[in-house]
Amino acid sequence: MPRTFFIETFGCQMNKGDSGLMAASLEREGFSPAAREEDADVVIFNTCSVRAHAEDRALARIREAKAHARRGRVVAVAGCMAQRLGERMVADGRADIVLGPYRSPEAGRIITGFLMDGGSALHLSQRRGDLATRVDAECVTRDVHPWHRWVTITHGCENFCAYCIVPYVRGPLVSFPSGQIIQSIGRAVQGGVTEITLLGQNVNQYGQDSGDMPFHELLSRAARVKGIVRVNFLTSHPKDFTPEIARTIAAHENISRAIHLPLQSGSDRVLAVMNRKYTLGHYMRVVESIRAALPDHALSTDLIAGFPGESEDDFMATLAAMREVRFDEAFMYAYSPREGTGAFSLPETLSREEKLARLQRIIDLQREISRGRLAARVGLTERVLVEATSRKSPDEVMGRSFLNHPVVLPGGPGDTGRMVSVVIRGVRGSTLYGERSA
Ligand code: SF4
Repeated sequence: MPRTFFIETFGCQMNKGDSGLMAASLEREGFSPAAREEDADVVIFNTCSVRAHAEDRALARIREAKAHARRGRVVAVAGCMAQRLGERMVADGRADIVLGPYRSPEAGRIITGFLMDGGSALHLSQRRGDLATRVDAECVTRDVHPWHRWVTITHGCENFCAYCIVPYVRGPLVSFPSGQIIQSIGRAVQGGVTEITLLGQNVNQYGQDSGDMPFHELLSRAARVKGIVRVNFLTSHPKDFTPEIARTIAAHENISRAIHLPLQSGSDRVLAVMNRKYTLGHYMRVVESIRAALPDHALSTDLIAGFPGESEDDFMATLAAMREVRFDEAFMYAYSPREGTGAFSLPETLSREEKLARLQRIIDLQREISRGRLAARVGLTERVLVEATSRKSPDEVMGRSFLNHPVVLPGGPGDTGRMVSVVIRGVRGSTLYGERSA
């Protein structure tokens, strides 16, 4: 009887990419995917440690899976929380086997060994040599959309932003070789892929560790792979976002005009304590370089409310920066301390309620700005890659524009995966709607 697996993924796009690597590796070892957790012989939770809440959610799911596990089922924990808490989780029986992010491409071999002879349950090493299998592995991983692939270009991060656990659980920056990345994209295109997303904790640092080409050159080479209709990239860091990157986007019609550029705070004092290594002035110069090269673009960001020591003036500086940049979208959080990070020992100066009140103020402001940004698209013609039939109507489809705005238009299942030209007629909630242009 074939062995089956089920992967539940928490957290960021990097984790989704890693889940793809694990799935491919398990299939190479003869496993097949199960549609539901209860049908699987091996259940893998690919976890996130960025926020306490993310860990708590994963721990609750793992507890539940363990409690209902039938005889012989293996509960594996992978990802950042495995790296952080894996030893304890195996010791107290919460997990049968744990795999750190370095080991995702080897998941099939590791789990097969564990099933056959009860091999080691701890696979958490972060020695650089252990990454070799990862760098040699296919860096392109599947997505739910058959025409889209995640393309991991770097692993790890060594920026040590004070609030972030990633450098501790994912290790230092390692860039995958550019030749291998471009070849993998070419192979994916032959298999029908038309859209890719280049992935890294800070893609702008690509090549800095290895002396390979800079990010803008890799981006340009990826965009020139014949058959690719859209290239997206995640995530950028303001300290490393060069004017060449904006100019490269402008030079290639098939590179997304949606740039995610996390600001975190509008206060230079808070940015320094966060160890972000830029000032608001620098951030605004990056925004200016993007505006100069790309008259039509969208900016999204991450913002933290209530970082330790954030005064009312610091917070007002964040609100002012939001008004000045006018982000299309923002991912906003109230600060929560993470054990093991630089900021963990900083005394908190705001209560939970005060942090949540500040969070609500930035959410309200962002909603108003986002509405305005969407309304400004009415009357324009957008290129939209159709992703699915609308959940609300079988006669409508939903896709994303090159500014990453969701767009609804008339259509049917035959349109999925196709690029269509759409005249935007209006805004429904946080979605644009329109009709095909002639
Ligand atoms: S750049 Fe900063 S926030 Fe991003 S992963 Fe690295 S340490 Fe974390």
